[in-house]
Amino acid sequence: MSTLISSQIETKDGRPVVFFDIDNTLYSTSSKISQAMGVKIHDYFVKLGLSEQDASDLHHKYYTQYGLALAGLVRHHDVDPLDFDRNCDQALPLEEMISPNPAHRKLFQDIDRSKVRVWALTNAYKIHAERVLRILNLRDQIEGVVYCDYEAKDLCSKPDPTYYHKAMSFASISDPSKCYFIDDNWRNVATARNLGWAHCIHFCERGQEHVEGGKVLKISNVSGATKKTEQGITVINELEELRDVWPEIFK
Ligand SMILES: [Mg+2]
Repeated sequence: MSTLISSQIETKDGRPVVFFDIDNTLYSTSSKISQAMGVKIHDYFVKLGLSEQDASDLHHKYYTQYGLALAGLVRHHDVDPLDFDRNCDQALPLEEMISPNPAHRKLFQDIDRSKVRVWALTNAYKIHAERVLRILNLRDQIEGVVYCDYEAKDLCSKPDPTYYHKAMSFASISDPSKCYFIDDNWRNVATARNLGWAHCIHFCERGQEHVEGGKVLKISNVSGATKKTEQGITVINELEELRDVWPEIFK
């Protein structure tokens, strides 16, 4: 969708947009998908001929540097993003790891679509994004998905500000004060807030373990705030809390 068409649509539709991150937000990190994904990515580095240690070091380095391990692999190892996707995200047995949550479906159904539009915003490729939404039985609740375009080798991803501008263009919205956003990654949320997205939530499952850049981390509340940070970011650990934090978007 071109920017021109997007802006034409927005003149007719002034509804705010609610952007949901997918992984570790629409399902709990207790599913251990981040751990399984970490193993697949590590194995991919090793298959390129790297030692176990170099694989671990570079995996973490690229994730930290680019927000996405794949971005480093493409830049420095000439990896085809679609091959990476087939061997990592698509190789995960997601159907055995996550399942629909009726309470989450009800939460989405209770969002008043005459007031807001609902989009997903992910660093994964569209195949993984669509698959997760389908397994969770939420695909019909999401108007559109903003994803990393591996086919175009466009690996711009959160928290790069360009990615948020792309998301707004795709969802045909130009006013950041009308953007709602929830993500489990603190950097992603903090960047959105810095860009003026007015309604930001850090989804923080305190005490759970997850894997980022190949390293196991205990999830902690980075901001230290119990309810709302100084930047105006609300911290929650259950999606059901959205009803209290964003009452204006529900029926
Ligand atoms: Mg996430």
